[in-house]
Amino acid sequence: MTVYLVGAGPGDPSLLTLRGAEVLAGADVVVYDRLSVTSLLDLAPADAEHISVGKQPGGPRTSQWDINALLVARGQAGQQVVRLKGGDPFVFARGGEEAAALAAAGVAFEVVPGITSAVAVPAYAGIPVTMRYSSTSFTVVTGHEDPAKGEGSVNWEAVAALGGTVVVLMGAARCRTICDRLIAAGLASDTPVAAVQWGTRPNQRTLRATLATLADLDPQPPATIVIGEVAAADLAWFENRPLFGRRMVVTRAQPQAAAMAADLRRRGAEAIELPAIAFQPPEDPDRLARTAADVGRYDWVVFTSPTGVARFFEHLHDARSLGGVRVAAIGPGTAAALAERNVIADLVPEQYVAESLLETLSNEVGPDGPGRVLIPRAETARDVLPDGLAAAGWDVDVVPAYRTVAPSPDPDAAALLAEAEVITFTSSSTVINFTDTYGTDAVPEVVATIGPVTSATARSHGLEVAVEATDHTVNGLIAALEDFFAR
Ligand code: SAH
Repeated sequence: MTVYLVGAGPGDPSLLTLRGAEVLAGADVVVYDRLSVTSLLDLAPADAEHISVGKQPGGPRTSQWDINALLVARGQAGQQVVRLKGGDPFVFARGGEEAAALAAAGVAFEVVPGITSAVAVPAYAGIPVTMRYSSTSFTVVTGHEDPAKGEGSVNWEAVAALGGTVVVLMGAARCRTICDRLIAAGLASDTPVAAVQWGTRPNQRTLRATLATLADLDPQPPATIVIGEVAAADLAWFENRPLFGRRMVVTRAQPQAAAMAADLRRRGAEAIELPAIAFQPPEDPDRLARTAADVGRYDWVVFTSPTGVARFFEHLHDARSLGGVRVAAIGPGTAAALAERNVIADLVPEQYVAESLLETLSNEVGPDGPGRVLIPRAETARDVLPDGLAAAGWDVDVVPAYRTVAPSPDPDAAALLAEAEVITFTSSSTVINFTDTYGTDAVPEVVATIGPVTSATARSHGLEVAVEATDHTVNGLIAALEDFFAR
């Protein structure tokens, strides 16, 4: 089997290459460093072994010799091994040594290049490493060797003489000596410098200075330092996104939590998935199956959640049973879940709450009077809709399609919550389960809800609601958060 030396990119998980994702998907074992993006481990099969060889702050570091031996042993054992490395595996990453060890042992290996922080981190800070006319080269140097001792292999005089852009990796700790050395070598002390910390990550921070002043700003690792004319460029885009740097907790159930988190991340937020709700089959799944098979006897099927749609269609063996049955969805998310199954909702109310659905359905009474309605939904839910329809003369069947339960508490929750600024609630049950599980004191400062029903539940649990969506959808909630932070 093969050992893959894979570049993971500088931090943003979506900067992994397609080839990197492909080999991860087939990995038996993933060997990774401390700075690796841990979410990339999820791309490996669930039963893949994870081995961290990085130095924990203050902890032991696995020696390079041990890492080489590990890769060789696992390769010889016939495993598909992914050695995940930050940035590019051959740029200041000792990938060369690992490849040499594998070659010497006769173990097949493949190199999957990655996007190096040397160019990607400046790009995320809005700094192009070259500019036509002003910066016609860029030199990438390690700042790891001590320039004051004169024993390092970096020839700083030559670097200074070359002109163009200088990109220093691993230079945060020694930035004062590096800057002094470059000034001594002839660079102007007011040469623009930018130090980009935790680049491409939600906590990216760009320090702007000159060769003379950078060290006073005390840049912290990991930082990419850019020196030269281009470092004055500020073509900001990443740090300008509307929710940049905001740490937000998503309490929806999976897989919706992951989708919402991805939407938040696209807007710059650091999204923490801490589902406060999970779905399980209803107590009597056969009843749902029977009802689905016999759905043709209803005039309407009313769906009140995407999960209800998913569970119902799992049991709908023949699409034709839906025949002329009309279909209502409580809101666009539910309608989208229907559309994914090639059913276009006949009715979506203007307001995405049960009251509005009830009112809209009341306008749908035909010449024969109110008809038969099926509502496949959560085992416990508000009775506004069935009661209201029944009161208006409809023949209503509510069939439990799923059960919502509180998932077991996440052991990392306390630490994650302590650092979070915002919590999002997309239903009353997320509020109830979350506060039951973690307590109201654990709730981050800014509470954001999808609408008035969820807000009322939050208030009844002693929470103050800072943000409430006017459009009661996940997109509406995200828009409300953007408004809130723009103010
Ligand atoms: N192989 C890596 C470099 C490893 S050396 C690559 O190609 O990117 C580690 C150095 O890379 C750090 O000290 C820092 O200078 C830089 N670096 C890595 N990740 C970074 C990040 N997210 N933000 C800023 N600099 C980073």
